[in-house]
Amino acid sequence: MNETSRGWLERDAAVVWHGFTQMASFLGGEASRAPLMIERAEGRELIDVDGNRYLDAISSLWVTTLGHRVPELDRALIDQVGRIAHSTLLGNGNTVVVHLAEALSRVVPVESPHFLFASDGASAVEQALKVAFQYWRNKGAGAGEHRLFLALGGAYHGDTTGAISLGDSGFESAVFDPLKFEVLRSPGYGDPDWLAAAAKVIESRSGELAAVVVEPLVQAAGGMVVGDPHQVGELGQLCHDAGVLLIADEVATGFGRTGAMFASEICGLRPDLLCIGKGLTGGYLPMSATAASAKVYEAFFGDDLGPETLYHGHSYGGNALAAAVALKHLELMESRHVLDNVRSGADHLAGSLAGSLADHLAVKAIRQQGLMVGVELSPPVEGLRWGRRACAGATRRGVLLRPLGDVVVIMPPLTITTGEIDRIVAVLVESLDELL
Ligand SMILES: *Cc1c(COP(=O)(O)O)cnc(C)c1O
Repeated sequence: MNETSRGWLERDAAVVWHGFTQMASFLGGEASRAPLMIERAEGRELIDVDGNRYLDAISSLWVTTLGHRVPELDRALIDQVGRIAHSTLLGNGNTVVVHLAEALSRVVPVESPHFLFASDGASAVEQALKVAFQYWRNKGAGAGEHRLFLALGGAYHGDTTGAISLGDSGFESAVFDPLKFEVLRSPGYGDPDWLAAAAKVIESRSGELAAVVVEPLVQAAGGMVVGDPHQVGELGQLCHDAGVLLIADEVATGFGRTGAMFASEICGLRPDLLCIGKGLTGGYLPMSATAASAKVYEAFFGDDLGPETLYHGHSYGGNALAAAVALKHLELMESRHVLDNVRSGADHLAGSLAGSLADHLAVKAIRQQGLMVGVELSPPVEGLRWGRRACAGATRRGVLLRPLGDVVVIMPPLTITTGEIDRIVAVLVESLDELL
């Protein structure tokens, strides 16, 4: 770390509290863990205050889709600033949000959708929970009926209190156990019998369930665990047959990551509620949304100010700047045939990983769906922090990676080139060789 970085990091540590970070060792001293201080970016590379470049192989925590500083997205943002940055969506509309919702309604796998906008993925999940719960109250369910959620083992749905209640990924959230509400749990995709176990709960407790919540196809933060698409589709059918709502959390899988616009399409799912976030604005601005099917939406009709109304809304929900960028982003996904690049890039990445890492001594398993990859490491004993050390090694070599425990995540922007893919894999191999 040179003087410029050191100075910035000291100023940072004096006033910024970083998420998922032990601030007492933030500056660390241990060079391998020195945080980056980013100043700008070009394409798929981040540039720090010393001018060093890093290939953004985790899409800035899974949000960046087309790359950084996409001229058309920059332009959309600037043009919208010239009209308005924000006006409230509580009881009033904004034209750019109408454009966006119309465009989204043509691509989301939800029947006649209405969009409730928020800012973070966790908020989209919270909204879905409240909507599902109130749906049943509006339908006249009794106090003990349709009040529970079924979520899967290894699930991750965000960090707010409701979202950590649903979640099961660890992330040290056990300290909050006393705050969490009751959730029914059946095994995640890693268990070959996960569907049968979920079916048992759905069938035996359908009268108590408000909804089943699932990350379609890939349990991302749970370690990039990939499910069988047919089985995930069957889960949807089971919910439908039992009359239980299905909430699909596509905050991570949405907007092309899996090779389809939404993973639900690959699984043949038509969820009653769909949560989107992360890639919605291409990684530019915080915007999320909960899409509700007509069946759910119409259950909230009633008298003005009556009890059927959804009393929920966020100050910045439907922000006009974010909406303008999200709208242009959807157009670019289509006009640039981004999904084609995801599929061909995914094939290239699979080949590259199989060739270089499948038999590597440090690797236990490689899991992939589209451009979502988890390389699970096989440390000889626990506590070696191989995931973190492998990613630190890659970052020193100019490829920014961040692990989930001992799973190295590769989740590059959707416009990644084959040359860049080879660079990511080569750097990871070098970093893993270093561990051994
Ligand atoms: C990241 C993530 C969330 C939370 O989104 P935030 O924007 O970080 O609040 C929710 N669900 C899934 C599946 C995610 O991957």
